Amino acid sequence: MGSYCYRRYVSRLFQNSGKLNPKAKSERRDHESGFSCNSHKLMLYNDIIAQSHPGGFHILPLGLRSLEKLTRLVDEEMQAIGGLKISMTTLASDSLWKQSGRYTEAGAELFTLKDRHKHEYCLGPTHEELVTKLLASMPIISYKALPIKFYQISRKFRDEMAPKYGLLRGREFEMKDMYTFDRNEETALVTYSTVCQAYDRIFDRIGVKYIKVSGATGIIGGNLSHEYHYLADIGQDSILLCDRCGVRMNKELAVEDGSLPKTCQLPATKCELQEKKGIEVGHTFYLGTKYSSIFKATYKDQDGISAIDYNMGCFGLGMTRILQASLETLSTENSLRWPKLIAPHQIYIIPKKDGPRGDEYLANAEALSDALTQRPHLRGEVVIDDRMSLTIGRRNVDGDRLGYPYIVILGVKALESPAQFEVIDVNRGETTFMSTDQLMTFA
Ligand code: ATP
Ligand code: MG
Ligand code: MG
Ligand code: MG
Repeated sequence: MGSYCYRRYVSRLFQNSGKLNPKAKSERRDHESGFSCNSHKLMLYNDIIAQSHPGGFHILPLGLRSLEKLTRLVDEEMQAIGGLKISMTTLASDSLWKQSGRYTEAGAELFTLKDRHKHEYCLGPTHEELVTKLLASMPIISYKALPIKFYQISRKFRDEMAPKYGLLRGREFEMKDMYTFDRNEETALVTYSTVCQAYDRIFDRIGVKYIKVSGATGIIGGNLSHEYHYLADIGQDSILLCDRCGVRMNKELAVEDGSLPKTCQLPATKCELQEKKGIEVGHTFYLGTKYSSIFKATYKDQDGISAIDYNMGCFGLGMTRILQASLETLSTENSLRWPKLIAPHQIYIIPKKDGPRGDEYLANAEALSDALTQRPHLRGEVVIDDRMSLTIGRRNVDGDRLGYPYIVILGVKALESPAQFEVIDVNRGETTFMSTDQLMTFA
């Protein structure tokens, strides 16, 4: 009935010991050389991910469940603002990148390859060229159909100079990228703020504290951009913040265009500018006609004749980065802590150890799991720790380490009438006793 057993599901497949896989020499080297960070360590030790090569990671069942939940959340918010989901090719012809001038700008970060006919391609690090060319190749549409908001969630490839911290800086990672096409600057800016509001909802729902700052446009181009950051000591961006004058910007931008003194409204002595480290989890850009003019992507205006360049925006979300960055922010030194909405499972049931009534406890756990998983939002969300030779305490350590939001312990009181279960709210560290009915309405 949609529940998982620890023995079959978690521990059989992997060691899941909370310790490093002794075979994973490269992971050990990364970690022992101090190259790693807490979330990277916890994800490796708990089989959320496994390293394939530097900057390349397999995502294992628990990690994938979480990523898929995040994907559903992002799909909901993108589609709520009219986003049309597409899936573009991973390979992009090098000629497109040469046409936009970014082939040289991206330099060594671009992975390039040749087919058997010696045609050159690159593995898409972002898809402005491809999507604009796609629009240009479609029948010219009327201004009435605008804005168009295409988005995809797909693997991106960047030959990062220093892949680091697991999924935080991979050479292959999952990104949600939306591209918008508007009639003019005015409507494009409305679209820009609509997408930013959807980003706010996404980050609010994930529930990890984030901060939105003015961002540098880098090689993507354009002249308006914002970044979303999770503040963390291991963040690779420097964020300038002042609660008094309201400055919130990536230091990169301040250095790029010297805009800081202009933005700050207060004399230097009054401004309480702070510098903090941030992990960039999302980035939005207003692009204008930079790409549409190059690729001749146009729509038909009111007169039905004039072909006008689209006004574009592009909006990135680092899906795999958000996943790990939230673990980095919430976890303790030894235990994973997930945003509740994207935890791989919601409930971890531990029935009392084998004894004369061992089978009864297990049967009880299965009945409880069946009852819980009848509820649509809990389908597949329950794991029973059926390692019946281990004490509750020992299994509780594992449940806590994996960080499922709720641990339900079936002890002596579970077999009394009426039954009582010990429910641990793992994120809050609170324990309460509940009846079956209370548990059903609570979870
Ligand atoms: P960074 O400054 O960290 O190198 P970026 O500014 O180059 O990132 P963008 O081009 O803005 O990245 O891409 C959009 C989003 O994709 C980023 O905000 C980030 O969340 C994610 N991202 C970028 N590079 C990586 C990477 N190497 N690994 C994981 N996620 C990444
Ligand atoms: Mg980068
Ligand atoms: Mg950046
Ligand atoms: Mg960026």
